[in-house]
Amino acid sequence: VDLPIHDAVLGRAAEFGDAPALIDGTDGTTLTYEQVDRFHRRVAAALAEAGVRKGDVLALHSPNTVAFPPAFYAATRAGASVTTVHPLATAEEFAGQLGDSRARWIVTVSPLLDTARRAAELAGGVQEVFVCDSAPGHRSLIDMLVSTAPEPSVTVDPAEDVAVLPYSSGTTGTPKGVMLTHRQIATNLAQLEPLMPAAPGDRVLAVLPFFHIYGLTALMNAPLRLGATVVVLPRFDLEQFLAAIQNHRITSLYVAPPIVLALAKHPLVADYDLSSLKYVVSAAAPLDAKLAAACSRRLGLPPVGQAYGMTELSPGTHVVPLDAMSTAPPGTVGKLIAGTEMRIVSLDDPGEDLPAGESGEILIRGPQVMKGYLGRPDATAAVIDEDGWLHTGDVGHVDGGGTSRSSEAESGGGWLFVVDRVKELIKYKGFQVAPAELEALLLTHPGIADAAVVGAYDDDGNEVPHAHVVRRPAAPGLSEGEVMMYVAERVAPYKRVRRVTFTDGVPRAASGKILRRELRERR
Ligand code: ATP
Ligand code: MG
Repeated sequence: VDLPIHDAVLGRAAEFGDAPALIDGTDGTTLTYEQVDRFHRRVAAALAEAGVRKGDVLALHSPNTVAFPPAFYAATRAGASVTTVHPLATAEEFAGQLGDSRARWIVTVSPLLDTARRAAELAGGVQEVFVCDSAPGHRSLIDMLVSTAPEPSVTVDPAEDVAVLPYSSGTTGTPKGVMLTHRQIATNLAQLEPLMPAAPGDRVLAVLPFFHIYGLTALMNAPLRLGATVVVLPRFDLEQFLAAIQNHRITSLYVAPPIVLALAKHPLVADYDLSSLKYVVSAAAPLDAKLAAACSRRLGLPPVGQAYGMTELSPGTHVVPLDAMSTAPPGTVGKLIAGTEMRIVSLDDPGEDLPAGESGEILIRGPQVMKGYLGRPDATAAVIDEDGWLHTGDVGHVDGGGTSRSSEAESGGGWLFVVDRVKELIKYKGFQVAPAELEALLLTHPGIADAAVVGAYDDDGNEVPHAHVVRRPAAPGLSEGEVMMYVAERVAPYKRVRRVTFTDGVPRAASGKILRRELRERR
């Protein structure tokens, strides 16, 4: 784990040699391990020759392509910290990230070049914009492959130097730049490996974006480190996704709940041969147990296994181990990984550890806790306390007896269940209602295609659950009253949905999370 990230991931590339590392799921372009290794070294040399120095921040602005991983490792080999940028960011948003991270270099792709150039102009301080493919007037990574410059000899301090500077999803506010060192990333890969193994011959489908920490870890670093093949898709399109599983004989899926929903319910799924799949993992947002079961039943697979993490945790702390997918209790996000400690504390008093079974805020301590938020010591101090515990802002509980405090010493300990975010809990007359629970229930209604629940205020000033509901085309007549009644028949009275709005779609972040704050602003 004490290697720079490019060596930690590509250390066995020579051994994997001619095996396909990356395949473009749209046109079949393939890079072998030997090519990825050679390409990233050549590009690193050319970047260094162009002026990239240790400690510089390089913004990688690209959808998933086969060039993304070699570009990423080239940048870190040249000594840069990579800040990954949402390919759909506006020039203004991108400029905000460039300014915040003080990025000096941009690597983009020609279709996004205009946005990148405008962002660079707005932010100032960017020395050069490179493209992965080709564009007149810009140096291209492809041309860099013939560079004869010497490989840069940059000494990386894995414990201190920032490898990646991803921005959190911005679900609860403005995205924050999260400083993750080489050691934090490499340690978390090693921690997750026994539970999420990959091997030559395995084929994973990179449909979630590499720019987000989940895709970067589960779909890029982890499979490439172990010799698997990554089939790359630029965006989620259900037909293209299903065709890629069928045509490339995909063996495992790492997805977010909206894709589990599509796999469980969409009629198109029946038209494809998905028999190569061995398992499905979901993370990034709450997944309802019934929906997970419907998905795995339909695909004839073991129950969908969950994982839990956040950008600030490099990113993982819990997974359902592969060999426990069939026996894990429904709805769990998994067990604590090695070398990590967890506490569940009272929402009213963070000093009070709760007994198992009781829900409180999840606290994590371990080598994967971020170095801090970039340039925001106050925000960092607000989430990492003086004893090194990261306050996740998530509410959860563990099953089983004893206390909910656990560590490696007690591995084999309890299963974690994530209820929702502290900030999203709706306080109805003193009772706490988790929107995620109501959303899951709404999705079990045959006439509901999608749903999101937020807190709203009734005429008396009480915070009440407000459901935004997308009707199925087959149920155009579904009424507000029917939706409220459906929920009321199935939950305790304080959890009832008390307002319903029909809508065409639920706003979501790229990682699949419901943007509840956007819904609150709609009112
Ligand atoms: P921001 O911090 O900018 O508001 P964000 O928290 O959504 O955005 P991420 O770091 O991408 O940014 O997401 C981490 C969060 O995702 C966790 O804190 C948790 O709320 C949620 N999450 C991750 N995995 C799961 C899971 N398996 N079940 C429920 N929630 C999950
Ligand atoms: Mg967060």
